[in-house]
Amino acid sequence: MQNARLPDGSIINPKEYIPGIHDGNLRCPYCGAKVIFVSTNTTREPFLKTTGKSTESKHLDNCPQKRNVEVFNSIKQIRNYHPDPTRPSTGQHVLHLELGDLYHERKANTSIPEIGWDHPKKQLDYANQYPDKKNELPDRARTLKALARYIKNSEAVLASTIVKFNGAFYPISEIVIDQNMAHDIALTGNELERFIYGTVFSVVRLEKVMYINFDQQDGALPFTIVVFQKSFKKFTYTKEKLEGKNVLVRGIIRFNSRTNQTETTVWSNSQLEWVK
Ligand SMILES: [Zn+2]
Repeated sequence: MQNARLPDGSIINPKEYIPGIHDGNLRCPYCGAKVIFVSTNTTREPFLKTTGKSTESKHLDNCPQKRNVEVFNSIKQIRNYHPDPTRPSTGQHVLHLELGDLYHERKANTSIPEIGWDHPKKQLDYANQYPDKKNELPDRARTLKALARYIKNSEAVLASTIVKFNGAFYPISEIVIDQNMAHDIALTGNELERFIYGTVFSVVRLEKVMYINFDQQDGALPFTIVVFQKSFKKFTYTKEKLEGKNVLVRGIIRFNSRTNQTETTVWSNSQLEWVK
């Protein structure tokens, strides 16, 4: 967030923050939740946030800063639900994630299939849409867009969905994750490919790199999408198209000890999709 209220009622922005004087006195101007100042780093400008560590530092439900993102409600609810994918039961639905090789576009000198997996032709209705019969769940997701649509299914559907991905079966809650789960994975040092959902708070585009930062209210941990200059031709989404939007991003999760943040690198538009 970009504004906070001081005890005397005045409103300040992060650039007006004075360490030692404003500490402990910053409140959300809308709901009065306690907020803290977060200083600038390589990927972003300074900002203010609730920590989520106590009820005092969480936005109230009716606060405009609450970011109660409806499109993520179902997938959020099943965050801690982990059915055993090795023993599928009759009620479970298997979703085959067939998005093609993540590194497809980065590989040089490899033969290119007649129609690439992200070619517009592959994105025709037959590949993306739900089957004709309504209420029938798709068995396959061949694009990120199809997965972004799938995660809006009900909590009950998602809780019973097993994803087949890169040759193995997983509960969908282990493959499509939030930024805090991404952080946990990053800290293990395992560089896993995952689909991370969240709301874009800010985009910082520098000459050689672009940073897309996820929102951090109420205890959401830092998560940044990094796009290097060499990928600017294939990753063409702008600040205007991204800020404030709910997205799903596909990438390898990593911890950057220099910025102290979890991040993933994206090199093509096919790795980011809006969840509407
Ligand atoms: Zn608030």
